Amino acid sequence: MELIELNHPLKEHYLTILRDKNTNFDTFRISASKLSYLLAVESTKHLSLKVKEVETPLIKTEGSEIENNSVAISVLRAGLGLVDGVKELIPNVSFGYIGVQRNEETAEPENYYEKLPDLNDKNVFILEPMLATGGSLSFAIETVKKYKPKNIHALTVISAPEGIELIKKNHSDITLITASIDEKLNENWYIVPGLGDMGDRLFGTT
Ligand code: URA
Repeated sequence: MELIELNHPLKEHYLTILRDKNTNFDTFRISASKLSYLLAVESTKHLSLKVKEVETPLIKTEGSEIENNSVAISVLRAGLGLVDGVKELIPNVSFGYIGVQRNEETAEPENYYEKLPDLNDKNVFILEPMLATGGSLSFAIETVKKYKPKNIHALTVISAPEGIELIKKNHSDITLITASIDEKLNENWYIVPGLGDMGDRLFGTT
């Protein structure tokens, strides 16, 4: 698995706002959105270009255009907080949604919601902001792999070492792009220092 941790002063700035427990919902959402642009830029370096003729005010010249073969998938619900960057930057990206929950009886992850566009031979970007144990991301990747994508990039805001290890073990063929690798998980499976519950902080629930 390729692991990329963002290295950029803007990342430090917006991540600090997200970590601050006194940040209000509006500012939290805006900062998550800004970080999503940085993650989107870093995770799209592999996208292929085709030649496009363009006429400038002076002459005809050769330009480039990104191929229309990308899909972003939000893992509900916190993944919705990272939609802006990919939506605004990747031309003609389509969107899918996966809801993952733990089965009460078997304790295994399962989908409670799945709405996906065609993923065959597509560049897939999975949006899952908090990589804690890695269970839901690993399950989301497994789901996506069934549809034979061209490649998979997972975008996270904060990753715990435990989650990174699980993804490395289960999905060595993907690329993980994260804004930060934090210290550890606590006894309640929260990332430390982390930012608390991303979904609650994005949507104002408790
Ligand atoms: N999910 C969150 O939203 N926060 C954590 O710290 C871990 C999982």
